[in-house]
Amino acid sequence: MPKVRILAGLLTLLLAGCGLVPAPGPATDATAASSAVVTKSLRDVERFWAARYPPIADGAKFQPVQGGYHPYTENDPPPACGGEPVEYQPNAFYCPTEDFIAWDAQNLIPQLQETYGALLVGVVMAHEYGHAIQTRLGRTRQPTVVLEQQADCFAGAWLAEVQAGRSEAFQKASESQLENTVAGVLMLRDQPGTSALAEGAHGNAFDRIRALQEGMEQGNGQCAGYRADNLPVTEVPFSTRAEAASGGELASYEESVNLLAQDAQSYWQRTFPRLTGSAWPELPIQPFEAGSPPDCRQPDTSAQGAAFYCRDGDYIAFDNQDLGPALYERIGDNAVGMLLGDLFARAAQARRGASTTDKKGQLAVDCLAGSWTNDLLTRGEDRGIRLSPGDLDEAVAALLAFGRADEGNAPTAFERIAAYRQGVLEGLNACD
Ligand SMILES: [Zn+2]
Repeated sequence: MPKVRILAGLLTLLLAGCGLVPAPGPATDATAASSAVVTKSLRDVERFWAARYPPIADGAKFQPVQGGYHPYTENDPPPACGGEPVEYQPNAFYCPTEDFIAWDAQNLIPQLQETYGALLVGVVMAHEYGHAIQTRLGRTRQPTVVLEQQADCFAGAWLAEVQAGRSEAFQKASESQLENTVAGVLMLRDQPGTSALAEGAHGNAFDRIRALQEGMEQGNGQCAGYRADNLPVTEVPFSTRAEAASGGELASYEESVNLLAQDAQSYWQRTFPRLTGSAWPELPIQPFEAGSPPDCRQPDTSAQGAAFYCRDGDYIAFDNQDLGPALYERIGDNAVGMLLGDLFARAAQARRGASTTDKKGQLAVDCLAGSWTNDLLTRGEDRGIRLSPGDLDEAVAALLAFGRADEGNAPTAFERIAAYRQGVLEGLNACD
């Protein structure tokens, strides 16, 4: 079952990448190889901006970065920025006072390239260059999270150039390369619970991937218009100390399944009549042991045999032994939420007589799953469970794990994340 193997692979990746503090090591061949990628990326991003800067700057001519490009290592630090020496960190940054871009050529960049591919290195550099563009536009007096999302959006505009075959550094990426890049962005997220107003906040992965996709679809003019008052920011700090102490996680896999399944059931009882005019009959749930699913003639699934909605039996079933606990332990409680959200949404889509298997149907399922997340995100404090910081990123990680492109005309994880986000941000009405 190829999909399950891919799932396990991605989960390992997610676990291994956590925290992004690579062990210091000596300079290697990987260092040299990634420096070549960085250099050609920056050159290509510069070429991109030479053409695309004037239209968003009232015709002003583009001036490339003047302070140079500086790879650094533990023993060979970057130049001082704003008169302050820069301590070694596994990082990449733009220094506005000296107008230079610097990156950790010893650990961070080689490891990103090795784990997620060269294109992610290009995206990171395009992001840093985006900060240089902000400085040139004189648009830096905005909350950090706005500036970071704008830089992600600018990086997306450059990525569209790659996908259009116009880059001189990269060939058009395959769906799986694109998904690896998104998985990399997911890894570069803020720690859950960071306030969007905190100094240095980059935004959660959910918001960052939105900005990146928006830049890809709508171009740098859209990015240039980012302001605190027109940007959806879903990153929230923990609301209580107890929530911070638990990391916002429900205490166990069993508790997650029970509470989330109950909540999904009541959500669809409340909202299904709005969608169809008819009531929502309680949806039976059949957890099963790994490898022993209940018999079903028409299983409808995005996780192969490990979880499905059974059309002929009108029930949902999932592997309660391997898949469920692995999602909880390796990603978090809301990866379980995404699994259940997907299955309930499949049932809702089938019960309203629509397809769940063609591309349009699959994307509608993702949007419907997102509409439940929207409800969890926007409800009052007194109503059952709520989303906590990190949960949206867990949902995206789970979608990437289920929805990797590996066959024909199925939607890609990239498209599925966009459809899910639409449901999250706009609610049920967005899912017709
Ligand atoms: Zn940044």
